[in-house]
Amino acid sequence: MEIKTLTLGNIAVNCYLLLSETAAVVIDPGFESEAALDFLKNAQNKERLIILTHAHYDHIGYALELSRQTDTKIAIGKFDNEALLNSYVNLAVMFHTELEPFLADLLLKDGDGFAVGDIEFKVIHTPGHTVGSVSLLVDNVLFSGDTLFKESIGRTDFLGGSFGEIEKSVKKLYTLPEDTIVMAGHGENTTIGYEKNYNPYIRG
Ligand SMILES: [Zn+2]
Repeated sequence: MEIKTLTLGNIAVNCYLLLSETAAVVIDPGFESEAALDFLKNAQNKERLIILTHAHYDHIGYALELSRQTDTKIAIGKFDNEALLNSYVNLAVMFHTELEPFLADLLLKDGDGFAVGDIEFKVIHTPGHTVGSVSLLVDNVLFSGDTLFKESIGRTDFLGGSFGEIEKSVKKLYTLPEDTIVMAGHGENTTIGYEKNYNPYIRG
């Protein structure tokens, strides 16, 4: 499997493109991206999925359009699905815009395993930044959304945020092997081992 990182929008969200022989997956298409569109258009013979780590505008803003243009289903953590309907809750309004309401096709729950072609995902519910945030594990790579960043964690001051919850979530992620690569929603990659030692907010 190949992973490509696109950094999109003025808030620099990381959108990840996962490609294998049989699968093409886009994680967090927050802003319009010709690269993400071409990626799915060129993969019409593969299994495809758009996965949203959580329902904040900068991670979901291009999902509906991308889904429509490439006939690709959308997945999100079940407790964030309804936020896709509300431009206040999903922060579109804070970004001075509105989002056409939509709902995901597939709802992810803690502990779920699912496959897109030959790429196998494990879902870890990691609330705290939002109620329905999920992190996704593929082999030794964790897509952590806005839960865990290099030397930081997600904000907990938005609706549904909770420091106590994100602390529990990050500690759950810290039980993964230390060499697990963390590909976060913003900023550089890191590893679980590095964050356990150097994350200034939550130590392992
Ligand atoms: Zn967010």
